[in-house]
Amino acid sequence: MSYSVPKGTKDLLPEDTYKWQFVEEVIRNICRKYGFNEIRTPIFEHTEVFVRGVGDTTDVVSKEMYTFEDKGKRSITLRPEGTAGVARSIIENSIASGPQPTKLYYLSAPMFRYENPQAGRQRQFHQFGLEIFGAPNASVDAETIALAWEVLNAVGVHNLSLNINSIGCPECRPKYREKLIAYFEERKDKLCKTCLERLYKNPLRILDCKEESCHEVGKDAPLIIDHLCPECSDHFEKLKSYLDEYGINYKINPHIVRGLDYYTKTVFEIISDEIGAQGTVCGGGRYDGLVEQLGGPKLCGIGFGMGMERLMMVIEGTGAAALPEKPRLDCYIASMGENARVKCVGILKTLRDNGISADMDHVSRSMKAQFKYAGKLGVRFVASIGDNELERGMARLKNMDTGEEKEVAFAEIGEAIKNA
Ligand code: ATP
Ligand code: MG
Repeated sequence: MSYSVPKGTKDLLPEDTYKWQFVEEVIRNICRKYGFNEIRTPIFEHTEVFVRGVGDTTDVVSKEMYTFEDKGKRSITLRPEGTAGVARSIIENSIASGPQPTKLYYLSAPMFRYENPQAGRQRQFHQFGLEIFGAPNASVDAETIALAWEVLNAVGVHNLSLNINSIGCPECRPKYREKLIAYFEERKDKLCKTCLERLYKNPLRILDCKEESCHEVGKDAPLIIDHLCPECSDHFEKLKSYLDEYGINYKINPHIVRGLDYYTKTVFEIISDEIGAQGTVCGGGRYDGLVEQLGGPKLCGIGFGMGMERLMMVIEGTGAAALPEKPRLDCYIASMGENARVKCVGILKTLRDNGISADMDHVSRSMKAQFKYAGKLGVRFVASIGDNELERGMARLKNMDTGEEKEVAFAEIGEAIKNA
């Protein structure tokens, strides 16, 4: 019997994990610079958190959730996104009633959606996400976008487009919604089955339907951007001027409505043309009603989720110039016989104590086989200790890149490697 991973999941192997670690390090540093702190919430929540938070007319909640009953007969859901859980957490931990704003991020957090797996679409994937609670000004909308932008630039990704839109608020959206429903009611015959169901529940979603016929009728539909109330309109104008100040180019895309119900005012997506159909690397927006919706105080918020797998795809797709080389072991100690082995353990410890990565033979290979193994590992140096060297307290240190060899006293191996 042999096993394989469940459909839509992937192992992340050492040939890739070091790349993730590099990107994670870049992200952490940038988050720190912008004054964000990390939050880690459970990967499962009570189902209600997502139903109330994300909204039951969304695809994520209605079709894609991993929901099950646990042994205590509670309905539990593996989180499909990060924001609802973070909002639940800041309410529960009284952060929501403390001083604001609160700036949080989560990194490489596993998310679960029951979707059809394709390139850039998995059932378990990972997100880097940001949330800023309690700051109503459009300056944080811009800051959120600027941070995402800086991360992308820092990992060598430049060819992206930023699409922004405003989807209004409970003041202006209902009036617009009526207009939109009236528009689509006259063109019902052109809508797909899903959009017919959405027509009265969530008509805005028709605007980003991927079906060709829906897309066609949607083209002439009234736009929310022309129906914003003065406050939302002012917010959007300010966002644009702040983005200009950050030097970030944007495209206004009035058809971006985002898949989750909690959004208000600003919504945005950062899209790559280089990774095929699943081109959205980052999506986010403002969610001024969410915290209240989950039983907390009236507290506005804004955030985004960035798909780590898609980010890695764009990085690789654009040449991966910013990625470091795979880390190499600094020193492998090759030796023969038990006496030498004891000595090796001591040398190994000293090297590691001095910050040099080192390893030795643990399987009693021949000297020749040890060199071969070290070559396969791609180590920088091999320190070999035969009987003769052991007697004299010396090792032969070979630079595996240049082939150069010299004799070095045991105590000086570390120094010799550091100086190379
Ligand atoms: P899409 O339109 O591609 O389904 P979405 O609107 O459902 O995306 P969000 O909920 O906004 O996605 O999640 C934010 C980001 O997480 C996306 O922009 C994408 O990079 C990533 N993402 C979403 N779903 C998946 C998935 N199934 N597999 C891999 N990455 C995903
Ligand atoms: Mg989706």
